[in-house]
Amino acid sequence: MRRADREVKDEKRVDEIIRACDCCRLGFIDGDSTYIVPLNFGFTKEDGKRVFYFHSAREGKKIELIKANSIVGFELDTNHALHAGEKACDYSFSFSSVIGKGMAFLVNDVDEKKKAFQCIMNHYAGNKDWQFTDADVGRVAIIRMEVIELSCKEHK
Ligand SMILES: Cc1cc2nc3c(=O)[nH]c(=O)nc-3n(C[C@H](O)[C@H](O)[C@H](O)COP(=O)(O)OP(=O)(O)OC[C@H]3O[C@@H](n4cnc5c(N)ncnc54)[C@H](O)[C@@H]3O)c2cc1C
Repeated sequence: MRRADREVKDEKRVDEIIRACDCCRLGFIDGDSTYIVPLNFGFTKEDGKRVFYFHSAREGKKIELIKANSIVGFELDTNHALHAGEKACDYSFSFSSVIGKGMAFLVNDVDEKKKAFQCIMNHYAGNKDWQFTDADVGRVAIIRMEVIELSCKEHK
């Protein structure tokens, strides 16, 4: 990272930033092009490894692209603030962001799908024992993304 002073290396802070975000953009390889889609998400750690869950309709472009290639890129950002200045070049914008690479898979196991729903609900609506029936989870696709690598940057 060119601005090493803005790199966040503290793992706890990285997790805090991820938990503060409300949208994760997933980037797919699409033939000789790319496809980026914004999604709500749930975030968890498994033996120290970062895992994201997403819910989706069972059909659509991203589902087809995941089936073709499980390597994805992702990006999240939060803590946006504009800092005005006298001159245009005095303006700045603060942010906290994460960029990374992961492996994305469709989850078929009903219990893991329920766990994923719980994780997504926890992210947006707080920790609670949310209830899901088999029919609820059967109607949607769940994507599991295991993080391979990431970097984190903050401009305060
Ligand atoms: C903040 C945010 C959170 C979201 N959270 C979720 C979520 O948790 N789960 C979920 O399934 N969807 C969510 N969406 C909608 C999501 O971005 C996609 O529109 C949706 O998942 C359909 O994706 P798809 O690849 O199946 O597209 P398809 O329905 O197959 O359509 C593909 C075509 O539509 C265009 N397209 C698809 N999505 C968008 C978009 N968002 N904006 C502009 N053009 C688009 C593509 O360029 C492509 O040409 C969210 C959107 C936003 C902005």
